[in-house]
Amino acid sequence: MSNRMYIIPIFIPHKGCNNMCVFCNQRKISGELKDVTTEDIKNIIDNYLNINSVIKYTQIQVAFYGGSFTGIETEKQIEFLKVAKEYIDNKKISSIRLSTRPDYISKEILTYLKEYGVKTIELGVQSLNEDVLLASKRGHSASRVYESAHMIKEFGFELGLQTMLGLPHSNEEFEIETARKVIEMKPSIVRIYPTLVIKDTELAEMYEKGEYIPYTVEKAVDISAKLMKMYNEAGIIVIRTGLQNTDNIRDGGDVIAGPFHPAFGELVKQRVYRNDIENKISDCNFKNISIICNRKDISKVLGNKKENIKYLNTKFNVNIKIIENNNYVEGKYELKEGV
Ligand code: SF4
Repeated sequence: MSNRMYIIPIFIPHKGCNNMCVFCNQRKISGELKDVTTEDIKNIIDNYLNINSVIKYTQIQVAFYGGSFTGIETEKQIEFLKVAKEYIDNKKISSIRLSTRPDYISKEILTYLKEYGVKTIELGVQSLNEDVLLASKRGHSASRVYESAHMIKEFGFELGLQTMLGLPHSNEEFEIETARKVIEMKPSIVRIYPTLVIKDTELAEMYEKGEYIPYTVEKAVDISAKLMKMYNEAGIIVIRTGLQNTDNIRDGGDVIAGPFHPAFGELVKQRVYRNDIENKISDCNFKNISIICNRKDISKVLGNKKENIKYLNTKFNVNIKIIENNNYVEGKYELKEGV
């Protein structure tokens, strides 16, 4: 049995979204999206529950993703929640997770979410800098995020916060400031999405007119690694760093520009290791170095195409040898003098 959570994702397009976030193509594509029915939800859950490997998970969560769940008509929300709640009552799943906007949270909404078995609420925060929120046309202030996050925690839900890097008017300082404020809200989980320029968005028009310059992959990886370290040190789990989970973004089909990389999350993990090893080498001044680590950490120590090792060699003029030792737990490694 695995204590890890298994998530059954159900994409509920928010066809009625009246917002105009510059990076989002939901308004343009909503006409093409099919309405999800309660029957579809049952089928999706049943199909996942029939996968053999799911049995070994002690916790299974149904997740309503896409758009803003609490922005759709209340009757529809309840209809969907009732379907999932039946699976909780029959002990087939353990709870429900959903994602929504900070301004679609109220005491009334949280009351019925609780009643229907919702455990985790993820808020699309994106940034906590007012200028960035305004330039991205998010339609809510940073104070609304604090208010909703506070309410969600007060009601006893698990809080998740989703943030974006490289929105219009943002910069590294603002990303770090946002992460600091996110940490102050004490969420259980965080997601970091680099902003991509998607076709049929206002951001694409801004990009084409030269009014918006996206981050490069290098810059987005570099900043993400710094944020990841901040969250790790604060004991907050980063459950995703990278591409938003829609088919058209995953395969790069609708991406016009921006830091698109299919293994973005892996690049960030490798950069976290590189930064950490770099600090350790600066402190120890060894010239011949053995890095002893678990097999699962070798690729992160090496970096993509051994980039970490090349970078460290160039910077410090050192010889580095990696030694596999599975007595070291994943994530813990050691530097020793001598190769
Ligand atoms: S990001 Fe969410 S709130 Fe903004 S336009 Fe898209 S669906 Fe609406």
